[in-house]
Amino acid sequence: MKSIKSKEVSVLLIGPFNEPFDYLIENNINGLDIGQIVLAPLGSRKVVGIIVSEGSKKYPIEKLKKIINVYDINPIPTSSIDLVYFLASWYCVYIGLVLKMVLSPLEAITSPILNKIYKINLSDYPNGNSIDHKKITSKRKVILDYLSNFDEGKVIEDLIKDTGITKNIIKDMLKKGFIKEEWVKLESTTSPDLINESVKNNQNLKILNEHQKSAIETINVSIKKSSPDCFLLDGVPGSGKTETYFDTVQTCLDENKQVLILLPEIALTPDWQKRFYDRFNFNPLVWHSDITQKKRKEIWLAALNGSAPVIVGARSALLIPILNLGLIIVDEEHEPAFKQEESVRYHARDMAVYKALKASSPIVLASATPSLETFHNMKLGKYIHLTLPNRATGAEMPEIKLLDLKLHPPKKGHWLSPILIDEIKTRLIKKEQSLLFLNRRGYSPLTLCRSCGTKVNCKNCDTWLVEHRSDSILVCHHCGFKKFISNVCEFCGEKDQMQSCGPGVERITEEVKKYFPEANLITLSSDTMKSQSILTDAINKIKNGEVDIMIGTQMIAKGHDFPNLKLVGIIDSDIGLSGGDLRASERSFQLLQQVSGRSGRHALNKDDKGLVILQTFDPENPIIKAIAKNVRNDFFEKELISRKNAGMPPFGRLAAIILSCKSEKNLDIFASKLSREIPLFHNVKIFGPAPAPLHFLRGSYRRRFLIKSHKTVNLQQVLLDWVKKVKTPANIKLNIDIDPFSFM
Ligand code: ADP
Ligand code: ZN
Repeated sequence: MKSIKSKEVSVLLIGPFNEPFDYLIENNINGLDIGQIVLAPLGSRKVVGIIVSEGSKKYPIEKLKKIINVYDINPIPTSSIDLVYFLASWYCVYIGLVLKMVLSPLEAITSPILNKIYKINLSDYPNGNSIDHKKITSKRKVILDYLSNFDEGKVIEDLIKDTGITKNIIKDMLKKGFIKEEWVKLESTTSPDLINESVKNNQNLKILNEHQKSAIETINVSIKKSSPDCFLLDGVPGSGKTETYFDTVQTCLDENKQVLILLPEIALTPDWQKRFYDRFNFNPLVWHSDITQKKRKEIWLAALNGSAPVIVGARSALLIPILNLGLIIVDEEHEPAFKQEESVRYHARDMAVYKALKASSPIVLASATPSLETFHNMKLGKYIHLTLPNRATGAEMPEIKLLDLKLHPPKKGHWLSPILIDEIKTRLIKKEQSLLFLNRRGYSPLTLCRSCGTKVNCKNCDTWLVEHRSDSILVCHHCGFKKFISNVCEFCGEKDQMQSCGPGVERITEEVKKYFPEANLITLSSDTMKSQSILTDAINKIKNGEVDIMIGTQMIAKGHDFPNLKLVGIIDSDIGLSGGDLRASERSFQLLQQVSGRSGRHALNKDDKGLVILQTFDPENPIIKAIAKNVRNDFFEKELISRKNAGMPPFGRLAAIILSCKSEKNLDIFASKLSREIPLFHNVKIFGPAPAPLHFLRGSYRRRFLIKSHKTVNLQQVLLDWVKKVKTPANIKLNIDIDPFSFM
């Protein structure tokens, strides 16, 4: 931490700013550091910011305003400040807005952590004269007796948990004056889940295989030397990657350093959290969009003051300032969920690599099917390749069969080929589990009127409404618009002509029920698994063998380890293979490979090995073939060649500009103004404006420019100079998307 010597300081404020402002600090304040969080005046407002350097000395001292407050919190580490600047410049967003993400939750800084506690409000309880004993019902007595043991009071959660009395009764007692509430400062900022003594007392250690050991040794060297090396931990599903990185987490704990683990969908990984707990005997601090504000404050402060050993979170956890970072792990690094697609559009994996570099900490990118970018970096020698080639349990890899639907078609209006049905039957007889995978939520993706051909569209978006039959509704998966299912066509008025076209998981479940009425089924999608506890429950049931057949979306494709699962049936392997998207083939490959990896993870001999059946209309498709033959690297090499020939990432650079507006006319006027100013640069090509594939979304029209350039071009500068030339009207939204993932 660099300390500040001067009385003039430059402060970067949160908000739409790209430059810090100069301020003065009071004479009696000494020992401030870079990164110190302060409150400063800005016009008539007071704004939080951080000290980024000594003053610029550009202004006479008497013109400078004074800092209002210096918060009594650790300064933001310089590695985090570097990240703020880099992320902002890479993704063309205001530095102050990225800072806002780092200082979120702001309440952790501006308001001390307070807890509401409850105390007895009857001074002479239980025997005094002031007490009207008739009013002390048995339930009230339980609360009062309990609280009489705790002069310091109790928080409501404990009160409910320990007495079993409901919140309503407690609130009523408060209203009637039996008890009172007070706000007190939290003693410790670390999570109560944290059991420090047991941090080093780990459990459930596996005997690691040679590949795991060698990977761990390599990473450990970097941890101990604080060397910012980037590792690709590359192993087939079930090869023990998680087990391996857990070991490196332990190394960090032994070194008293903190670990940041990024997972694509943390809210949906109770399984992972349980495994962590079993191994380490404490819970990591879990950060994602659904945690309470209070929890958020605690985690943020514990990360910054160094008391949280392990922080695990979804992509936004990247921005948590961590005092003593010793290791970053990005699990399933290829997942598109690491790219944020709204407001500040950033890629958490890419920025994590930068964060690690600046914090002098190694980073491990783990995946069974790395992104092409990462694979390429590994080939260039920028990332160190660590491989785990076999399943860790010693299980055989599953057999993969292509099922040509042209030769073995399902019955009309059905989706399961007789061959797949037979295989499911065999597993049922053997009391083994099957998983049917279809990456489509709901019952059916399209409803059509047989009489006039009208498709039921969303009123806010240019998309079909998806039928969710169990809820009797049609839903837009883009904006959430809903309406009840009706048997009358809104266009032609004809009755009973509405037809559901194509399947979603709900429909597959219906079909499986018909074939196997006795079997225990479970449908796993974000619609059926609405909360973490429902999902945990479902996963436990599957593990305990209470489920015979699972039907699921990508939610079930990843991470889970179901020992008795022996058959994976992929209902439609062709989804996603076509489409103009840069990453369409890469992503299909990744998803199919991952789902396949669920099969037979604990099969101990050849006869017992798992089976994967890919239903397809296109068995000659190179992606399908690569999956069937299990030749990942060949596929990646070919894909890299085709990207290279097209000048696409990772060989060239891409960016998009997305314009949106409620008025299509105004949008087109602005788009053509912008297109008249298209800069002419060597090695830069700009396509568009074109209507976006989703050209009407959430009530706004959308146009896109696609910008492609050589790797050597400073694409961000080109874009910023270009859009500066035309003033963007207030009713038009202009978004720059660097390294775009979504082309919609
Ligand atoms: P991945 O993260 O690569 O999918 P995991 O770490 O989840 O793999 O390991 C897959 C399964 O193998 C888990 O059940 C895990 O407990 C087990 N496992 C991992 N390493 C070993 C080992 N060295 N010996 C025995 N079992 C192991
Ligand atoms: Zn919609």
